[in-house]
Amino acid sequence: KKIVIIGGVAGGATAATRLRRLSENDEIILFEKGEYISFANCGLPYHIGGTIKNRDDLLLQTVDGMSQQYGLDIRNFSEVTAIHPQKKSVSVTNHQTNETYEETFDQLIISTGAKAIVPPIEGLDTAENVFSLRNIPDMDHIKAYIKEHHVTQASIVGGGFIGLEMMENLVELGLQVHLIEMSDQVMPNIDFELAQILHAQIDLHGVDLILGDGLKAIQQQGRELLLTSGKKIPTDLTILAIGVTPESTLAKEAGIELGLRGAIKVDQKLRTNFPDIYAIGDVIEVTDFVNGTPTLIPLAWPANRQGRLVADIINGIDACYTATQGTSVAKIFELTAASTGNSEKTLKRLEIPYHSIHIHPNSHAGYYPGASPIALKLLFSPDGKILGAQGVGTDGVEKRIDVISTAMKFGATADELAGIELAYAPPYSSAKDPVNMLGYTAD
Ligand code: FAD
Repeated sequence: KKIVIIGGVAGGATAATRLRRLSENDEIILFEKGEYISFANCGLPYHIGGTIKNRDDLLLQTVDGMSQQYGLDIRNFSEVTAIHPQKKSVSVTNHQTNETYEETFDQLIISTGAKAIVPPIEGLDTAENVFSLRNIPDMDHIKAYIKEHHVTQASIVGGGFIGLEMMENLVELGLQVHLIEMSDQVMPNIDFELAQILHAQIDLHGVDLILGDGLKAIQQQGRELLLTSGKKIPTDLTILAIGVTPESTLAKEAGIELGLRGAIKVDQKLRTNFPDIYAIGDVIEVTDFVNGTPTLIPLAWPANRQGRLVADIINGIDACYTATQGTSVAKIFELTAASTGNSEKTLKRLEIPYHSIHIHPNSHAGYYPGASPIALKLLFSPDGKILGAQGVGTDGVEKRIDVISTAMKFGATADELAGIELAYAPPYSSAKDPVNMLGYTAD
């Protein structure tokens, strides 16, 4: 078989290596329009802040290394400019040589990811200090700008994962940071009362947190932001982190069926409407594990999982990707915020009946030093099915959410959380773990 992959990072690189492990004979060609393949997107904010000191640590694989190790034909600087489903070929432009050519395929995997949303804001074209963060060149530009200009204050527009991570890292650099978020809370995947704990922490670190206000215009060549309320924010640098949108133009132009917000529609075998054309990662629409509706969940776990499964499926292994739970975690200064499944907001919007409980157990035995409370919230249906969970605290938060995510995956009910036997010693937990406590409280 001759398999072509578009996109050489999370989903694409995973698919390529798995394809090779499953078959030594297939021809596998991976096109990446940028210079780098298989880099750690998730680490980018931490190199800007200096926690990850060495830039090379973010480059998980080099083109030469990965080509040789796995016997892959990896072509970086190579942008796929068109997909021809009937001819079963793609058009490619090599940006180093300006050469253009066609490459045929037996199977095609699209893993083009997502791009940062940049709305047409007045004044954006006059500013050279407004950035978004998606890849290594974006990170390099932000770092270089901070180094080469006298940056003392920065603004971040958007209080989602990337906005919050950038906030923390710019504070680490000693900058005065303004965080502007249109809704009344940061981190949309958790509910307001838990987000309030984050707001307090953000405040504590001296960040100017502006909720319920949006960016209206960029003024003075990027030195001032005008907000919807009329408020003006002086700034030396602005990061736009208001969300991502599927990179699906190629697919659309090829007649590949799109769904929600321009994401590629796939079936449980990750197939598009064309036989032999598959799509994975941030560019696809997925089914919400809890409520069954189509949704977009642009996270690294689904992209990696789908990358492995698509290789299995192409090799005739009976595998399916059914749904995404959206399990996620983020660090907000000393706090960890994690969630899985649906929030109360989502359940309300979809009019799904639910019960909700809150508990605040210690992360480990109170008599062992360092214990701290975790705010834990569990959402479950009237018949007990777990619909979602979220937690905020300084220690052991993601462990509890991961346990609940696992229980959900295997269909456990809320009261069954009481019966999960979990590891215990005083430095780590209590004989009744917080997850067990949720089960007892729900019962
Ligand atoms: P990507 O990994 O984005 O790869 C797509 C690649 O396709 C890109 O390199 C692009 O250049 C290439 N491409 C696009 N079009 C073409 C074309 N026409 N021809 C050739 N190549 C093309 N997720 C988490 O779960 N946890 C985190 O902590 C986390 N942190 C993140 C932090 C940042 C700053 C960013 C940007 C993302 C983060 N994510 C995180 C999200 C995660 O990185 C993505 O969900 C994941 O990378 C998606 O994989 P993908 O293969 O779909 O797309």
